[in-house]
Amino acid sequence: MMPIDPRLPYDDNNVFARILRGELPCKKVHEDEFALAFHDINPQAPVHVLVIPKGRYVSWDDFTRLAAGEEIAGFMRSVGEVTRILELDQPGYRLLVNMGGHGHQEVPHLHLHIFGGRQFYHMVAD
Ligand code: AMP
Repeated sequence: MMPIDPRLPYDDNNVFARILRGELPCKKVHEDEFALAFHDINPQAPVHVLVIPKGRYVSWDDFTRLAAGEEIAGFMRSVGEVTRILELDQPGYRLLVNMGGHGHQEVPHLHLHIFGGRQFYHMVAD
C-alpha cells in the first residue's frame, strides 16, 4: 500500500473511521471516552494492538496541532491502560506511530502501534 498524504482533509470513509462507527468489525481490547484499541489485522509481533483516538485526526501531526489538551492526555492515558490490560508492563513493549510519507503511514486516521510478546532489538528496520 502507498503511504497517505497527511495534508489531505480527514476522510470519513477510512477503515478506522468505519471501525469507530461499528460498520466494520474489530477485535477490541479496550474502549473509553478518548480511544479505541484493537488487534492489528496483520500482526507484526506476538502482540500487535492499535490505539486510535475517537476524534477525526489524520495523523500525529494533525492531532498534536489541533486536539484539545484533554483529548491528548486522555489518549496517552488510554495507551498506558491498554499496555497494562495486555500485561505488557512487566516484560516491556514498543510503541510506534508512523506519520506521512517517510513514516509510511497507510491509514489516514491517527493510530499508535503497541508491539509486545517478544524481545525487540534494532530500533529501525533497513
Ligand atoms: P500504518 O502503516 O502505521 O498506517 O499501519 C496501518 C496498520 O493498520 C497496519 O499494521 C495494518 O495491518 C492495520 N490495519 C489495516 N486495516 C485494518 C483493520 N481493518 N483492522 C485492524 N488493523 C488494520
